[in-house]
Amino acid sequence: MSVTELRSHAGDRTERALWGWGRTVHSHSTVTRPREVEQIAQALSARARGGVGVIARGAGRSYGDAALNGGGEVIDMTGWDRILSIDPERRLLTAQAGATIAQLMAAAAPHGLTLPVVPGTRHVTLGGAIASDIHGKNHHCDGGLARHVVSLMLCTPADGCVEVSPEVDRELFYATLGGMGLTGVVVEATLALEPLDSSWFAVDVDRTDGLEQTLALMAGEESHRYSVAWLDLLAEGSKLGRAVVTRADRLPQERVRSRPRMRRDHRAALLRKPILEVPRGFPGALLQRSGVRAFNAVRWSATPRSERQRPMPLAPFLFPLDGLGEWNRLYGAAGLIQYQFVVPAGQEATLVTCFEVMQRRALPIYLAVFKRFGDAFGGPLSFPLAGWTLAVDLPARVPALDAALSELDELVAGCGGRVYLTKDVRLRREILPAMYPQLGCFEEVRRRVDPEGMMRSDLARRLGLCGAAA
Ligand SMILES: Cc1cc2nc3c(=O)[nH]c(=O)nc-3n(C[C@H](O)[C@H](O)[C@H](O)COP(=O)(O)OP(=O)(O)OC[C@H]3O[C@@H](n4cnc5c(N)ncnc54)[C@H](O)[C@@H]3O)c2cc1C
Repeated sequence: MSVTELRSHAGDRTERALWGWGRTVHSHSTVTRPREVEQIAQALSARARGGVGVIARGAGRSYGDAALNGGGEVIDMTGWDRILSIDPERRLLTAQAGATIAQLMAAAAPHGLTLPVVPGTRHVTLGGAIASDIHGKNHHCDGGLARHVVSLMLCTPADGCVEVSPEVDRELFYATLGGMGLTGVVVEATLALEPLDSSWFAVDVDRTDGLEQTLALMAGEESHRYSVAWLDLLAEGSKLGRAVVTRADRLPQERVRSRPRMRRDHRAALLRKPILEVPRGFPGALLQRSGVRAFNAVRWSATPRSERQRPMPLAPFLFPLDGLGEWNRLYGAAGLIQYQFVVPAGQEATLVTCFEVMQRRALPIYLAVFKRFGDAFGGPLSFPLAGWTLAVDLPARVPALDAALSELDELVAGCGGRVYLTKDVRLRREILPAMYPQLGCFEEVRRRVDPEGMMRSDLARRLGLCGAAA
């Protein structure tokens, strides 16, 4: 649990310290668990709150300060987790915003349906996924979540609960997709589903020897629907950037049916808790560069150079990190920073420079995931754009980490790229307009639906994304 109860407990309002998933930041706020939609509207009313800002929170899996609101109010939406309807004919699902990706997939499965886009963990809520406009390993084919959201019920400070969609208040709809909760509280959403061919993937695995080979392989023609590369950025010399590249498609049902050992309870697998959990107080000092380097070397050499059509169940393929509960505790009390950026297609030279900076600065990158993005689609604050995205996990205790990441920020912004806000905890506000050139459109919508600047978070304060209209 990333929540520590600190002071009084009065019904559905609790004074608490809340943390980001990276465990580098926390702040104290009044946390409410609304039971009625009127209570959400009430919480957004400036008059009722005496001007104290408010933000929604889902499962708290954003790495930084997006779901924190120090000194203000946080609306915990996890109790709003009902699946409201599934229409198998039209392939539509409507659910409350606190339902998790696991719950949504488990509910859709008996109808032979599933979500077209999921992030790397199934423990995030629908509201959190919408607020971050999440992407998956298939972004190059299917885009981010924004492409698959049909409509939203959104509670805003100015208008209370409104239904928005690409047809009704398009600007507000798209500003909410990726809007980090700053346009209001998502109460419900309707998503388009797709047929669940089977709960297995056929995975092609390739092992590369260094960065050049990895980039060449990833840049080649991509015929698979899902692709991702795990990079070894602790290997030395020419081995730096060697990778395990996995590219996959859903395994057709006929091939699963013919193999009895592949018949598994897909719903149960989605809802299963991990067998292993990292204990509280895990000493972060145990996670050392030498240990991770050795682990990486074993992982790399244990992978075949090239394997085709390896069958893999859905959950470990889509959600590999969910196998170990509370894995963020591995980094100890100082926590971890995940730095994820995208550089546009055509800017591969800058991408290589970013790798050189990481190497020159000897950054201890314990996990690195590299993906290809398809075209941008969605809101002014949506992260994905056509190009290359790299997400790296670093222990926060590393000296001079901020200077190194600031150097990367400059390179990324300079080539038209951006940093993913839902992972961020340290970006400077001055650089934001270069990374998100449609910031002005977002501001316009936000001022309309929140003229008194009630929607606030620690991230929004840090980046200048909140405040009353002038
Ligand atoms: C292991 C791991 C893997 C991940 N992999 C991916 C990935 O592959 N792709 C990807 O895109 N992301 C990924 N993420 C990031 C994650 O999907 C996002 O941070 C997501 O927003 C977290 O959802 P949450 O429910 O935990 O929201 P929180 O962390 O609680 O909140 C995140 C943001 O959503 C807002 N929010 C939450 N609920 C609502 C609501 N009801 N209404 C309005 N705003 C709301 C909050 O205000 C905040 O701004 C990963 C995170 C982890 C920990």
